[in-house]
Amino acid sequence: MKSIAVDMDQVLADFLGKALKAFNERFNKNISREEFDISKIETLYPELSNEFFLMINEPDFFRDLELEDVDAVPVLKELNEHYEIYIATAAMDVPGSFHAKYEWLLEYFPFLNPTHFIFCGDKKVVKADYLIDDNIRQLQSFTGEGILYSQPYNEQYTQFKRVYNWKEIKELFLPVKQ
Ligand SMILES: [Mg+2]
Repeated sequence: MKSIAVDMDQVLADFLGKALKAFNERFNKNISREEFDISKIETLYPELSNEFFLMINEPDFFRDLELEDVDAVPVLKELNEHYEIYIATAAMDVPGSFHAKYEWLLEYFPFLNPTHFIFCGDKKVVKADYLIDDNIRQLQSFTGEGILYSQPYNEQYTQFKRVYNWKEIKELFLPVKQ
């Protein structure tokens, strides 16, 4: 059986959706999804960035994220019968998120084996055959075949196979090629 490692944020879970909502609510802003660039918060809002990063590091912040794509649940369930599925999340970026991420996975993906949840920093240590991720840096460091989950901030990269949603992921991996 081949193995597939799957990233969490912006592949399974809509972290940025909640982060934007929380940012607007906490700081009384009204910025749009298109304008919201988490990597620029320190530069654009230096006076708010410390409080913002403390907020996303609160123990429950990641517990009630919405699914990035509702099809992720049935598709991963089916893939799980034909592949070894691992969840690989760079949770070291937000150390306060561990428990909430774990519980979130158990809630939405109860059919996955929790011993296959990998909370890591650099995904080069993940020895799966495939990695589905929105982060180009992680795909470049990964040693198997990278699949890029398309998001507006990774549109310019062309070196990886790109998927736009979980239906496309299903078509890519099923039926299993012998
Ligand atoms: Mg991600």
